[in-house]
Amino acid sequence: MPKVLILHTGGTLGMRGEPLQPDAFSTALTEAVPEILGLAELEVRIVFNLDSSDIGPAHWAKLAAEIDAARDEFDGFVIVHGTDTMAYTACALSYALLNLDRPVILTGAQRPLASLRTDARRNLVDAVEVATRDLDEVAICFDGLLLRGVHATKSNVHDYRAFESPGMAPLARLGVDVSIRETEAVSVGGYVCRPEFESSVLVVHVVPGMRPQLFSRLLDDSTDLRGLVLGAYGLGTVPAAGPDVPQMVRRAVDKGIDVLVVTQSAGKIDLSQYENSRALKEAGAISGGEMTMEAAVTKMMHALANFPDRRNRRAYLLSNIVGERGGGSSDKV
Ligand code: ASP
Repeated sequence: MPKVLILHTGGTLGMRGEPLQPDAFSTALTEAVPEILGLAELEVRIVFNLDSSDIGPAHWAKLAAEIDAARDEFDGFVIVHGTDTMAYTACALSYALLNLDRPVILTGAQRPLASLRTDARRNLVDAVEVATRDLDEVAICFDGLLLRGVHATKSNVHDYRAFESPGMAPLARLGVDVSIRETEAVSVGGYVCRPEFESSVLVVHVVPGMRPQLFSRLLDDSTDLRGLVLGAYGLGTVPAAGPDVPQMVRRAVDKGIDVLVVTQSAGKIDLSQYENSRALKEAGAISGGEMTMEAAVTKMMHALANFPDRRNRRAYLLSNIVGERGGGSSDKV
C-alpha cells in the first residue's frame, strides 16, 4: 500500500466555534474519516494549526523542510490548509521543492469536518487518493477538481467550488474514475529544495485615478522594500498620462527594486502591445507572462531570497520554472 504523509496546518476543515477558530486538532483524523485508511498507509502530523491568513513565508519554509526530510519515506503528501491562502502556499511549495518526483496535494474545506453537509470528507478522500498516484505536481484538490498549484486561485467564498485555474484546464476532474491528464514537463533536472523566501515585497493594484506620488513617498521613506508586483490592466497597461505609473516604476527600478507586472484579468500579458504597456518595459519592469498574483508574489519572494545577483534574479523571474508563466491548455474550468 502507498504511504502518504498528511501535514495539518489549520483552516476551516478542523475549526469549531462561533466565530470559527482553530480547534485542538486531533491526529485521529483517520477516526473521523476512516475511508482514507483504505487508500494508503497514513501518518498525520500537525505542523501548525492556524487560520491560513496567518500563514506566510516562515510557514512555507517549515512545510518545505518537513516534506524534504520525509521525501524518501512517503509516496505522496497531503497538506490540510485553510482556503484563504492555500493558493499562495501551493505556489511557494512549487518553487521551493523544484522537481520533486511525487505529489504534494493541498486541500481543505468550506465547511468544518464537524458540521453537517461538510465538504471536508470528500476533499480529504480525493486528496489522499491523488497523493497515491504517480504525479510530480504540487496541486490543489478541491470539490472534485485537481488544479496545478501554481495556476490556482481562490475564486469563491460561498460555493463548494472555491478554486479555479484561469487559462488552464484542471489536471483531473474526480468523478467515478480518477484519470489525471498528461501535461508536458516544464522543468527538467534534479530535485532542488530551496525553502527560503524574502518578504520585503509590496503589491500595487493599478486603479483609475491612482496617484503614483503616494507610492513615491513610500519609496523615499523605505529602505527595505526590494520587490514590487504591479497588477496592471488587461495585457499590461497602466495610466501613463498625468498619473505617470511608468515613471514611478523607473524610480523604483533605479532604487534597486525589482518590478514584476501581472494582469488583473486572466491571461498572458504582452508589454509590447500598447504604448501604455511598452512604457513599463522601457522603465525596466519585468513581464509576468500568465502568472496569477499568488504565483507572482511568491516567486518574487523566492527570487529575492535565492538569487542575490540582480541579473540572475531577473533571469529567474523571466523563466518558466514550474509552468507559472503559461503553457497550459486554454480550456476554461
Ligand atoms: N479563514 C479560513 C482559512 O483560510 C478559511 C478556510 O479555511 O476556508 O484558514
